[in-house]
Amino acid sequence: MTDKVVVITGGSRGIGRAAALAAAARGYRVVVGYASNKAAADEVVGMIEGKNGKAIAVKCDVGHESDILALFKAADGFGTLGALVNNAGIVGKSGVRVEDMTAARIQEVMAVNVTGAILCAREAVKRMSTKFGGKGGVIVNISSVAARLGAANTYVDYAASKAAIDALTVGLSHEVATDGIRVAGIRPGLIDTDIHASGGEPDRAHRLAPLVPMKRVGTADEIANAIVWLMSDEASYVTGTTIDVSGGR
Ligand code: NAP
Repeated sequence: MTDKVVVITGGSRGIGRAAALAAAARGYRVVVGYASNKAAADEVVGMIEGKNGKAIAVKCDVGHESDILALFKAADGFGTLGALVNNAGIVGKSGVRVEDMTAARIQEVMAVNVTGAILCAREAVKRMSTKFGGKGGVIVNISSVAARLGAANTYVDYAASKAAIDALTVGLSHEVATDGIRVAGIRPGLIDTDIHASGGEPDRAHRLAPLVPMKRVGTADEIANAIVWLMSDEASYVTGTTIDVSGGR
């Protein structure tokens, strides 16, 4: 158990929500970031408080640096930062080939999935690095198997953004390896969340389930279990790597 603070971007729904509940169960004080769905974020906070945990909801669109600064300022007022889960991520409309992609679409995906994650990592490093007087910590980056598979005919821009996250995990982990900070990633496979509906194809995960060696979609809790393991001392020698949690896909 710990009484440290974890910042989870996109903690209001899906994988982030499951991670927030799992982290709270392990004693973390949870900062639940959300983009616009305050009701969902408040519900997560209520569930955590209902089990005598501590949590706050903070509006933070990671596409805006000012929101990220406000998120970490709120975390500063909540306790000592011990972990960041770089979870917020978006997809553009599914089924758009590169030849038909607009610059605006690509820029939005990159702003949220890549620039946002790097800026959140920057703020976390400033607070957790022993070089700056911090007590160390863990950064968990949520990638995707799309980084390996490429997501052809679906959303190649998203896959490219997740490959960037995998590189962030390696490079940043080397930079802060002797500063008390571990950086690791997770590549979820097909997980049953709202993200598929946001890409215009609510049934996507279930439609593709037969392609998964385990022949089923994964749950947000199955990703959250890996997240809190990476955050824990049980993973004390794990850094600079990204784990597939994908049923074999
Ligand atoms: P989701 O169900 O669509 O939930 C998205 C979460 O991110 C919500 O909490 C949402 O906040 C927040 N969010 C959306 N845009 C944001 C922004 N601009 N700034 C900050 N927060 C934002 O997504 P999910 O499936 O849980 O995905 C979580 C992560 O896992 C993403 O990085 C995704 O790429 C990755 N992933 C998912 C799957 C999958 O099959 N589900 C597979 C591989 C990887 P609001 O509630 O306020 O909208």
